[in-house]
Amino acid sequence: MPLQDIKTRISAAETAAGRRPGSTTLIAVSKVQPLERVQAVLEQGQRCFGENRVQEAAGKWPDFREKFDDIDLHLIGPLQTNKARQAVDLCQSIHTLDRPKLAKTLARLAQESGNCPDIFIQVNTGEEPQKAGVLPGDADSFVAECLALDLPVRGLMCIPPVQEEPALHFALLAKIARRNGLDGLSMGMSSDFETAIALGATHVRVGSAIFGERTPAPAA
Ligand SMILES: *Cc1c(COP(=O)(O)O)cnc(C)c1O
Repeated sequence: MPLQDIKTRISAAETAAGRRPGSTTLIAVSKVQPLERVQAVLEQGQRCFGENRVQEAAGKWPDFREKFDDIDLHLIGPLQTNKARQAVDLCQSIHTLDRPKLAKTLARLAQESGNCPDIFIQVNTGEEPQKAGVLPGDADSFVAECLALDLPVRGLMCIPPVQEEPALHFALLAKIARRNGLDGLSMGMSSDFETAIALGATHVRVGSAIFGERTPAPAA
């Protein structure tokens, strides 16, 4: 059972790193997966899930919430400002805050509704032009800006460049978090979550290792 295997590997990685058992949250990344696979993982007791598109999340999670209690939904993909309200209504955490305009919008929505998802700031540790996230050199001032807006900033998130050693990026993210007094580290995916745990990940985002390979949307 892939879910149980991943949980076992997470526990082993925590132990190997001398970390407290259960100190890593497993986010099961259900984007693009057939609903019956997601349902099967819910039936195995998993409640924490990640989606990368608001629209797609809005299409499936309200129905699952009618059937399963305590679903904890994390938005891990880019968030357009005009979808922020929907994201705030739907998700308990947003991992991809990366610009002042979105920070201000989230702060305003939080004030209006008296409620705000937990926030992770995405850092573009590889400084890749096509990738979202604040640059490492801008991270400290952006964290301060978000805290000044009273946003509940829990930590930082990164997606390392595919062709590079992820450990370097995880270590950089941990260093930036530490100097900003942030505890949360959203890092590590199917291929590298054990490395991420060794370097302090509090949230790992694992998709294909739990659900199987993602087939493109129109596939049979
Ligand atoms: C899809 C995705 C994941 C999960 O990737 P896998 O390799 O399937 O584990 C993790 N994080 C983000 C931001 C993603 O978009």
